Amino acid sequence: MQQNVTAIVLRSRPYGESHTTLQLLTEAGSLSAMARGAKKPQSRLRAATAMCAKAVFTIRRGSGMATVLQAEVLDSHRGIHESLDKAAYAAYFCDLAGAAAPPYPDGGRDAFVLLDALLTRLDADTQTEIDRLGALARFLEIKILRLVGANPSYEFCGECGNALMEQPSVGYVVSRGAFFCRQCLLKLPILRSMEVPGKVMQVIDAMDKVPYTQLGQLRLSPVTIRLLRQVLRLQLSEYAGISPKSGKVLEEILRSFGEWDSPSGDSSVDARGGDEVNGS
Ligand SMILES: [Zn+2]
Repeated sequence: MQQNVTAIVLRSRPYGESHTTLQLLTEAGSLSAMARGAKKPQSRLRAATAMCAKAVFTIRRGSGMATVLQAEVLDSHRGIHESLDKAAYAAYFCDLAGAAAPPYPDGGRDAFVLLDALLTRLDADTQTEIDRLGALARFLEIKILRLVGANPSYEFCGECGNALMEQPSVGYVVSRGAFFCRQCLLKLPILRSMEVPGKVMQVIDAMDKVPYTQLGQLRLSPVTIRLLRQVLRLQLSEYAGISPKSGKVLEEILRSFGEWDSPSGDSSVDARGGDEVNGS
């Protein structure tokens, strides 16, 4: 059965001397495919099989892996390949989106549209400071949590339902996968939690609510980025089963830039008033 699918290349691996195996994110889930001869310099499939390329793939599906017959590149996301930081973030973005997508053809369009929007933004971003890329990563993590239904409430206490954002600080309780208000944390001292300022809860909630195709300004302070990185990665690994290897690679790169010191869990953590999220 031959068909056309619009897809983004999540992973591209050499296979034998001249072939490439692909993990594709289509508009209906993730799909493995073999592009025969794609590594040959003259191959017309070559450009479409690069990491993060968006293309219309003509595929034939049989019992095993699909075969790519033709491909027409829609966007190669060239800018992503021009910087190591961007490429590392892109790999992480692809892994997250891929992990959230059911196998083809049982998936929905959301993961595809989300990844497409984020890669386009990453590609176009001329400023590659780690903080800007880190803010985008937090945005994607929040969206992925919602996509797979593993998002905690950012507005209300997971125990008593109190509003969280008006509180000076609340706690993320890993063992419950929820944010708890001060009063509940005091009542349940046995629970281990990470302190999160109420102002940061407002930022997470804003990121959760803005549609991903309408993201305007997104600026987070380094402190907020690091704090959210810990919280969101824990939530993703413990409650969505998503803990991609590329996240570790990213950490290594950030460490080499000295960007990986943990935020302290005490009350000195604040958002420094530098956080801003809005729709376009
Ligand atoms: Zn409470």
